[in-house]
Amino acid sequence: MASKINADVEEPVLRVTRGSKRKLTSPIIKHEDGETSNVAKQSHKSLHLLSSTKLELLQAENSGVQICEKNANSVTSHVPNPTKTLKSKQTVKQMDKESHEKDSQGNGKQEKIKKEKKAKAEKTDTGKKVSKNDVPKPVMVIPEIIIPSNKPIIKREDGPSPWNGTVKYDNKIFLGAHISAAGGLENAITNSLNIGGTSFALFLKNQRQWVSKPMEDVTVERFKAACATHNFLPHLILPHGSYLMNCGSSDPVILAKSRANLLDEVQRCERLGILYYNIHPGSSCGKGTREEAIKSIADSINWVHDQTPDSKVTVVLENMCRQGNTIGGDFSDLAEIIQQVFDQSRIGVCLDTCHALAAGYDLATAHGFDSFLEEFERVVGFRYLVAVHLNDSEGELGCHRDRHASIGKGKIGLEGFRRIVNCPRFRDIPVVLETPFISDEHYKKEILLLKSLANSDTVCA
Ligand SMILES: [Zn+2]
Ligand SMILES: [Zn+2]
Repeated sequence: MASKINADVEEPVLRVTRGSKRKLTSPIIKHEDGETSNVAKQSHKSLHLLSSTKLELLQAENSGVQICEKNANSVTSHVPNPTKTLKSKQTVKQMDKESHEKDSQGNGKQEKIKKEKKAKAEKTDTGKKVSKNDVPKPVMVIPEIIIPSNKPIIKREDGPSPWNGTVKYDNKIFLGAHISAAGGLENAITNSLNIGGTSFALFLKNQRQWVSKPMEDVTVERFKAACATHNFLPHLILPHGSYLMNCGSSDPVILAKSRANLLDEVQRCERLGILYYNIHPGSSCGKGTREEAIKSIADSINWVHDQTPDSKVTVVLENMCRQGNTIGGDFSDLAEIIQQVFDQSRIGVCLDTCHALAAGYDLATAHGFDSFLEEFERVVGFRYLVAVHLNDSEGELGCHRDRHASIGKGKIGLEGFRRIVNCPRFRDIPVVLETPFISDEHYKKEILLLKSLANSDTVCA
């Protein structure tokens, strides 16, 4: 689980070979100023889709029909609504019909196609045995994406968390780990207590699938009740987003799916009463410029903010290790994304210590740590820091490789972590281990080890 958190999404993710091969058309991404994004100008692509994924793209580049739903608030991934599915099928039928009607020369051919289609449909209707276990698979529906532009900038207030008014700041470090929520999201709380965590990270759904079942109300209630009982406040929980997302992609299909997923997960956080939602910013995959990828990431966040205007959920950008074309290895990448986000009260940063060392920030020495803090404050600003991923690094300083190691077993070392644990900059935020998962007992020991590095008993919550 945590040991698998090393993967950067560098390549487009639709390389899965299971499932059917379909030809998809490019979705047009509209901007509020009337322009369409250049991603729509790409040629059509044939892609292998996940077998569990049905991407409802009705878009033809010149038809002006948008993908897919007009009411973007109501949909991302869900079990298909029969009315909506019917409507979609009708739209496809209508488009088919119109295109055939235009073909005035092809009447005979048209009849033949119709007969073939009818025969095929009859065969399917009668030939398929319907099993009781045939439950409808969740369908990914991409809402209409209109990128907002020229909105007033909302600045972020100074302070460790924007969750003002409800949280008493203790000036303590809240140590925890990325823990399993298998069997129900509420199990994350029990698992976290078992390892002695006072904060935690988790996946809200399968991190390697585009679509998941919607959360049931009972799950939401149990999760919130468990958090309240055991005093896990909203700003101490840090869900990690899907690995499939790449909001910096120049591939219009991956971009549209990434944006739909981003919205879905932010809405899940909102329902669960969680404040923060951590993502890898994205990658240009070498197919576009860094500037284009950065703009695309900021556009994605702006769009999600627009879709969730009453939400406090903050999208948290994780620093990366400069591997390949990933965005976020340099603090200036993070700063540029933040500058292009209109509501800066809902954007934050999570510092991953392994990624930082691999990116070239020397957390192993006192001087390196000081320059790391100084550069972060100067380029991004600590008012944006809302979480830390605490990992040692198997790879050397500046290796650009994402290889997490257990605390004290890598190139940062115990002295490096002693500085981090005692640094007042990392108080009142989740500081979670993503070190290789060995056992719960091992996580417990790592947390105790970190606590033993604190200069006094009062530092740790
Ligand atoms: Zn991560
Ligand atoms: Zn991380």
